[in-house]
Amino acid sequence: MLRLSQKNIQSLLLSMSIFLCLNSLLISAQEGNEQVLFDRVAEQVTQLKKSNIAEALTQLTSFEKKLNLLSIEQNLKYFKLLSEVQIEQNQYTAAKDTANKGLTIARKLSSPSLFITELLYLKGFAFESLGDLNQATKEYKKGLEVAESLHNKVNIAAGLINLGTISYLKEDFKRALILLNDAYNIASQTDNDALKGRANSVLGILYSHLQQDEQSMGYYQQSYLHFKKAGMLLAAHNSLNNMATTHISNNNYLNAINVLKTIIAESNNETANDRMFVVYLNMAWAHLKQEQSNPEEAYKYLLKAKGYLLLSEKKGNHLQFFIDEAYILFALERFDEALISINNVNAILDKLNEMSKLNTKNYLNMIDLKGSIYHKQGKFKKAFDTQSQLIKLTNKEYENEDNSSITQVRLKLEAEQADKENKLLYNQQLLYEESLKEASLNNEKQRVYLLFGALVALAFAWVLVRLIQSQKRLTIVSNIDALTGVANRRSLMNKSQEAFEAAKIKNHQLSLLMIDADHFKKVNDTLGHSVGDQVLAKIAFISSKIMRKSDIFGRYGGEEFLICLPNTNFKSAMNIAERIRVSIYEHAWQISDLNKVSVSIGVVSLTDEKNLITLVKKADEQLYQAKSLGRNKVCGE
Ligand code: GH3
Ligand code: MG
Ligand code: MG
Repeated sequence: MLRLSQKNIQSLLLSMSIFLCLNSLLISAQEGNEQVLFDRVAEQVTQLKKSNIAEALTQLTSFEKKLNLLSIEQNLKYFKLLSEVQIEQNQYTAAKDTANKGLTIARKLSSPSLFITELLYLKGFAFESLGDLNQATKEYKKGLEVAESLHNKVNIAAGLINLGTISYLKEDFKRALILLNDAYNIASQTDNDALKGRANSVLGILYSHLQQDEQSMGYYQQSYLHFKKAGMLLAAHNSLNNMATTHISNNNYLNAINVLKTIIAESNNETANDRMFVVYLNMAWAHLKQEQSNPEEAYKYLLKAKGYLLLSEKKGNHLQFFIDEAYILFALERFDEALISINNVNAILDKLNEMSKLNTKNYLNMIDLKGSIYHKQGKFKKAFDTQSQLIKLTNKEYENEDNSSITQVRLKLEAEQADKENKLLYNQQLLYEESLKEASLNNEKQRVYLLFGALVALAFAWVLVRLIQSQKRLTIVSNIDALTGVANRRSLMNKSQEAFEAAKIKNHQLSLLMIDADHFKKVNDTLGHSVGDQVLAKIAFISSKIMRKSDIFGRYGGEEFLICLPNTNFKSAMNIAERIRVSIYEHAWQISDLNKVSVSIGVVSLTDEKNLITLVKKADEQLYQAKSLGRNKVCGE
């Protein structure tokens, strides 16, 4: 049995209290150490986030179990950084929860802090990325309120940019304009280049969407300069790429190439990530589409883009790559490979649950291209089937098309209106600014946030611009007449013009056939317009079967077709015309009440005509002659 004397008890108590005292000293020493360590790690993580996200995460989460040893401010910083890293990794739900944890801790603060604004913006951004724009708006508004109470211009501007972006996404362009212009004005009063870059960049995107490219270009240019000054090369290059994209959509391919060259020249290992994919792909597209199309060069850049594609898991990138590859291979006349690219596009599209409008168009474009390939390969039956499929599908799309062009016009008007209103608002803004003048700025902390904010906003803007660009591209590549599946008038005349000039220079022969359906009004009147349409498509098909690959054939207008025959003398041209006339007249129509359809054809050959139009006019005169001789005739001179 243990017996404790009073003395023993005393000494035991003494040593216990010494132990406890030492222990708490030890803990507070440990606390102090951890706090110093955290500040250092936080600094590192801020840098690492840009280059090595996995390492950033490892460093940061090493504090997960030691948060109780850190100050409240440090806790907030921890959750802020973690949320940012999660957003970089596209883990938006996690990012939102993380920001929330930070906000819960922030309640312990006795006065509002910039961290609260930043956490609210992060939470908002996570909601925005998850598609919940309403919740995102709420968070951004709360964040903006805190920023305003702190009179912090930088975060006020950032909040306005966030809200402006949401308005843009909700297609409330008027509101977006007002908010973003406010953001721009406030940002201009700071010396924060990252912020100014961001404000300019989003305005550029907005104006580009409103098809006011001149303004848009100005903003992109400014944002490039600001981002560069802020040392944000990646963001700066995003702006340049946006400029290149705008050049491309305006068919200014040489300008686009120059801008893209700057990006490539300024790029280093750190910026050469999967965003370079888009740069190289744009470069390839510009080389393909420039006036003197250079598909070989385009292909080289395509291969460079492919190198980066392997690093990228973004489905959209793969889709865009195969689409561009299909067009480039087509231009290189590598038809079988182009067909494989088309299949790859379709495989990706098939996997999508829902077809967006854009992807529907991509899908139609691929059918269009497939038809062209079959046509070039001389597989006319397949070409026709493909084109018929396209006609059926495009007809369905028509109504939507009309609606969207109306929307575009409306938006433009609204944008102008908003511009006017904005001038009024600007004056109010100046008054408001007076009250902000005394605001004390805490720049260091804000930079951290903005550096990040600008990057995520741009990553997202990047996607948007890409979408807008692809939509504009559709108008560029559409050379096919939807009803008949042959070249439309613009493409027909472009190609004929080239052939005409070549014949002139090389002193080669060239002939033209102008074809017009006889009494076509009657077909429409007695059998209906849709039968008329079918007949036109068939006339196009029969005629195209008779021609050679090198001949140029297209719909000149209404029920008239033009054929341009390079290296063909008058006699052969008359022969071809006669074969077309007979084939159409002898065609057994599978349409009830339709017995015979005939065409009249005018034929001319190049002599000393100065331009294509003169030659076309002469063909027209011969056509008129054939009509007056009773129709179903070929006339020529
Ligand atoms: P002809 O040329 O023998 O003198 O007589 P026509 O009846 O063909 O003469 P005209 O050129 O005056 O009329 C052409 C008709 O072709 C009028 C128009 O309704 C029809 N047409 C033009 N484009 C289309 C089209 O895309 N689909 C259909 N179904 N009809 C069209
Ligand atoms: Mg006519
Ligand atoms: Mg006619």
